[in-house]
Amino acid sequence: MMRLFLCSLLGLCSLLGAEPADWIWSARYVVTMDGGRRLIEDGAVAVGGERILAVGPRAQIEKQYRARHKIDLPSGVILPGLINTHAHAPMSLFRGLADDLRLADWLENHIFPAEARNVNADFVRWGTRLACLEMALGGTTTFAEMYYFEDVVAEATLEAGLRAVLGETILRFPAPDFKTPREALRFNERFLERFRNHPLITAAVAPHALYTNADETLQSARALANRFGAPLMIHLSETAEELDTAVQERGATPVVLLDRLGIFQGRTIAAHAVWMDEDDLEILRDRGVGIAHCPSSNMKLASGIAPVKRMLALGLAVGLGTDGPAGSNNDFNMFEEMDLAAKLQKVATRDPEALPARQALEMATIMGARVLGLDKEIGSLEAGKRADLIAVRLDRPHATPLFDVYSHLVYAVKAGDVEHVMVNGRIIVRSRRMLTLDEAKVLAAARRYQRSIRESLRIAMPPQQRPARSPVQPANLLVQ
Ligand SMILES: [Zn+2]
Repeated sequence: MMRLFLCSLLGLCSLLGAEPADWIWSARYVVTMDGGRRLIEDGAVAVGGERILAVGPRAQIEKQYRARHKIDLPSGVILPGLINTHAHAPMSLFRGLADDLRLADWLENHIFPAEARNVNADFVRWGTRLACLEMALGGTTTFAEMYYFEDVVAEATLEAGLRAVLGETILRFPAPDFKTPREALRFNERFLERFRNHPLITAAVAPHALYTNADETLQSARALANRFGAPLMIHLSETAEELDTAVQERGATPVVLLDRLGIFQGRTIAAHAVWMDEDDLEILRDRGVGIAHCPSSNMKLASGIAPVKRMLALGLAVGLGTDGPAGSNNDFNMFEEMDLAAKLQKVATRDPEALPARQALEMATIMGARVLGLDKEIGSLEAGKRADLIAVRLDRPHATPLFDVYSHLVYAVKAGDVEHVMVNGRIIVRSRRMLTLDEAKVLAAARRYQRSIRESLRIAMPPQQRPARSPVQPANLLVQ
């Protein structure tokens, strides 16, 4: 201890034979996802402060660094933390409220009344805590999300210690925390100012979709995002209906319409992008739009299959998103999204070589980082990058034997195999225990909400709050 102290104090470590590090994590494999896609057997990662100091063979790292703390997972793998590029975190409290329904039924009879009666700052705080708990325990270190009370989402995310790209949803209809799009834009501006240059929170601007906003609002949102150098998040061509309506009413696809409005002139994260023709894809590629592909959601809502194989061939950045977790998907399981993304492209193209495992893992790591505009900081294990890493067990029956670690990570490993999680140099999950949140307390709060949500739905809705008569159109709830 004294020697380490002197090392850091006097900078004499190299003379003493080893440099100081806060952590050394070692494992049977280190999957780096770096430019050369290095896979290191018996590898290690050294971390100092918020960043990765070095990645290499264990013997070399242990010789070069003396760490204050060590973690070794001899039968496991260390890889970059997973990146969820599209979700609605606080909706975790509505998980499983109503499933297997047509969208209109789900919205009007279930989610709309539930949101109208339950969503407030407290709901969002507990919902985000629950989401962060699940995400961290499942190996997700960064997520992008849009909902309401986004400042509260940010506070709960920081409490949990995760990294996030967050945007307040902007709609032409009244929402739980704003009455008009103008109010939502003003909220967004304050939010962007508050989290400018924050190490963990990237504030974004999040107009819900083309069909739920006036053109001028979308343009104001773009201008606001550009003023802060922030990304814009939007749902795009999720359903055939959305595409058909745009073509019938406005004579062009949603992509062409948004492009004409200049919405892609700046970093954009587009969720879904299911209904795309070749011209649409070329526009998205030329504008550098990042895609959040959400296979579970697209399957569960029967939205369709995004042409991911074609997108990747064209050079678009495609990440993975869980969407949900109410209605469109019931969890934040990125291992499941990798598995489904790969299989969905195979079944859609009837080509088992489509979207191989390593590419699916890229989408959940380095390409997801590119989608969010964070690939210089996260997405791979490289010296100088932020220390966002996870350690995953590979010794369970479903992961034994092991011939190919990429194949296992995509097709065999479960979220419950994640052992340790570090975000920005801070360990937040150790031996499957969340260190930053009180799991029992979060789960107890979620159960309390379950009761109060159920109770709120038993009470007959006053006529003015019923969806059919409300100024809030069902479409405003398509934040899925
Ligand atoms: Zn969504």
